[in-house]
Amino acid sequence: MLRRILLLLVAGLLACTGTAAADPGPVAQDDIHAMDGCYTWSRSLSQGASGEDVRQLQIRVSGYPGYGAVVALDGQFGAATRSAVVRFQQAYGLVADGVAGPATFAKVYALQDDDCTPVHFTYGELNRCNSDWSGGKVSATQAKANARVTMWKLEALRHALGDRPLTVNGGFRSVSCNSAVGGSATSRHMYGDAADLGAGVQGFCAIAKQARYHGFTEILGPGYPDHDDHVHTALRSGQLWSAPNCGV
Ligand SMILES: [Zn+2]
Repeated sequence: MLRRILLLLVAGLLACTGTAAADPGPVAQDDIHAMDGCYTWSRSLSQGASGEDVRQLQIRVSGYPGYGAVVALDGQFGAATRSAVVRFQQAYGLVADGVAGPATFAKVYALQDDDCTPVHFTYGELNRCNSDWSGGKVSATQAKANARVTMWKLEALRHALGDRPLTVNGGFRSVSCNSAVGGSATSRHMYGDAADLGAGVQGFCAIAKQARYHGFTEILGPGYPDHDDHVHTALRSGQLWSAPNCGV
């Protein structure tokens, strides 16, 4: 174990040195902390760590909080973050030690596009209202950031349901877009964290049930008024799960 830690430390130093010197040589030959177009971690992370790199990790594992829970995006690597990392590692067949090291980051890099969205979802799918994320109940920057977290949760949900396509029919809405479609005055769509999902091959009920494990505190589906033709997932304070026809 100590030897492994030392190796990681040396690898981290090499990666940092390579970056600082802008000399691609050592980094190119050292794929332990490979460079990524979105975000590159320069150290391994385990319980007790804190910082922006922890927060970036928390976003990527936000779909793995466990049943009914939510991963706090606070930059503090505590027990809940460790559990989320373990579930992420288990989901992808990695050594599930709760330490985000080279293998875990390699999987994250493989799962993310250069714009930091997970590979199976796009900002465009999450915003069919406008192009600049403006006019909601939060700033455009916040709405887009919220949508990104939602996409990482959807990536986890999609993976848990067999990695088959998961259709997103709508996400962020400005206040005017929300009014135009008759959305609730308190709709989470105006915050950017909501996604309306099509049935796909999974079916509404499988999606609604599985969503309970992936960080969605708001799940509305078949049997809830106006939700027989989609499953709505979002983040809200408190929990509202209602898809009576699915037993949710
Ligand atoms: Zn909705």
